[in-house]
Amino acid sequence: MTVSPRMKKWILIYWLLLVPPGLVFTYIVSPPPADLNAIDVLGFMFLSAIVASMPMVINGVPIFLIQWVSIAIFLRYGLFIEMVTIQMSVLILLVKLRIPKEGMFRLPLNSAMFFLVSFLSGMFYYFLGGTVTPDFKEGMGPIWLGLAYAVIYYILNQLIVMLHQMLVYRINESFFGKDFIWETVSSVITLPLGFVLYMLHLDLGLIALLFIGGPFASVSLILKMYDSTQHVNEYLQKAAEIGHQLAERVNVNEVTDLFLQKLSEMLPIDYAYVLEIQENDDIHLARRVENGVVMPNNHMGIKKHQGISGTVWGTGKPVLFTSRKEWGNIVSANIPGDAESILGIPTMKNGKIVGVVVLASRRKRAYEKSQLMIVDILCSHYAIAVENARHYEQAKEESERCSLTKLHNYRYFEKILYREFGMLEKNVRDRLALIILDIDHFKAVNDTYGHQSGNEVLKELASRIQNIVGDSGTVARYGGEEFVILLPEVTSREAYNLAELIRESIANWPFILAQHLEGNSHKLSIKITASFGVATAPEDAEDPLALIRHADRALYVGAKRAGRNRVAAYVK
Ligand code: GH3
Ligand code: MG
Ligand code: MG
Repeated sequence: MTVSPRMKKWILIYWLLLVPPGLVFTYIVSPPPADLNAIDVLGFMFLSAIVASMPMVINGVPIFLIQWVSIAIFLRYGLFIEMVTIQMSVLILLVKLRIPKEGMFRLPLNSAMFFLVSFLSGMFYYFLGGTVTPDFKEGMGPIWLGLAYAVIYYILNQLIVMLHQMLVYRINESFFGKDFIWETVSSVITLPLGFVLYMLHLDLGLIALLFIGGPFASVSLILKMYDSTQHVNEYLQKAAEIGHQLAERVNVNEVTDLFLQKLSEMLPIDYAYVLEIQENDDIHLARRVENGVVMPNNHMGIKKHQGISGTVWGTGKPVLFTSRKEWGNIVSANIPGDAESILGIPTMKNGKIVGVVVLASRRKRAYEKSQLMIVDILCSHYAIAVENARHYEQAKEESERCSLTKLHNYRYFEKILYREFGMLEKNVRDRLALIILDIDHFKAVNDTYGHQSGNEVLKELASRIQNIVGDSGTVARYGGEEFVILLPEVTSREAYNLAELIRESIANWPFILAQHLEGNSHKLSIKITASFGVATAPEDAEDPLALIRHADRALYVGAKRAGRNRVAAYVK
């Protein structure tokens, strides 16, 4: 529900034209009675202020039940005093509801609405012949008039609020929504209180306010407390649900994304920072989201006990600030200048702090203590989910690598090969090249220097290939002493040249053996060569297996048989 600045300007003009002149008019038509007791009026206003400052909250909807006090004031002192009291109460209610700056237009809007309701129903009462300070003991007449006033007030209130909502927010909410039912029920229940208050005040004076106001305030308070426990229950249920969802994710980034997404569905968040503490007591910014946009994770230079996150990290205790005043003295270069409310929560694992989550809002008093508790619970779910996802990622990574050479294994290579072919078929890729290489006379290396030395050669060779290929392709150990290099968007010529480069890097530089069988501690250096086969798709092959077969054929026929230590491209 956004309201345009133009509409806000119109609301202000509307209020200026309606309320101040209207108040003057009312003062002239229905002035306060001459025998007015200022102390009593102040007492009534004080009661109104209390009632306004504790709106009954039912099902999370604040219900403004000022009417039963205002009806007593109206009957006792007439329309003008009632209007002034109502206007004051509207102001108190809106302050109490903590409307943000951009919602300030609601003040003139509500003021105008309540003015209209007061004015029209008051005038209606006088029109029917109602008087100020009627005597209910006189007979049924004045009582019927009082009831008529209450009913018309109630109906006008509903109509005028709906009309304004339609005009300002352009919504056509059902007239008989949830709020409507609650409001009707509570009005019917509390309205007789207004009559009793009026009559009791006539008889007893000021003390009547205490007799009726006291129980009402207590009931309001109890309802409010009940509502907040309901709220906490709801939050707890939600937290458990989010915990389950987090646990299902197996990717660390996804866990963090979901965590922040769920948090911002529950709380007003303009800035969010997820920090991780590493083994060596370094803190690392894992995620930074500002105004819903993921920002680059630049290093923030946070130290223990410094700034807000450093303090949470240092003390291990969560912090809750409701406005900048409360945390301005804590040096914090990383929190944006317009932030007001801040929640800082440590994430714990096995009783140790593993990170800090900092949430901030531009609004003052955006977070409450009960929310801090919920976020705290969510943070523990988050810490566990991240840990699990990290284990999963690690296990997956390990299952796709060869433990000796740390290169990708055949399983992984096969997956990538099929994926690349899929892209080729969808024309996302133009071409694909494959190099297969096999070490020459490797059996002899094993036989002469031992299996351990053979392994050293494999390791060294793997790292030479990986260094040359870099990011331009996928290097994998295909089998024993055979390796494959998959190169997307590389021509046959380029692949051939790359293979030649690798061949030279193997043949021209000896391999150093530390664990050979010669018995002494001297390091031995040996010469190794390898043979290469190259094939490309789509020229040489139409499916993944054909590409492997053809590169293999080039290797055996073109390189091995031709004398080894050479590169051969596939020929049909
Ligand atoms: P060529 O390829 O030039 O024909 O001769 P080669 O001696 O390399 O022949 P072949 O490919 O048949 O032999 C492969 C040898 O590689 C057999 C095996 O002992 C050795 N080998 C395979 N895997 C490993 C390994 O993980 N470690 C060691 N040390 N040796 C291995
Ligand atoms: Mg072999
Ligand atoms: Mg071999």
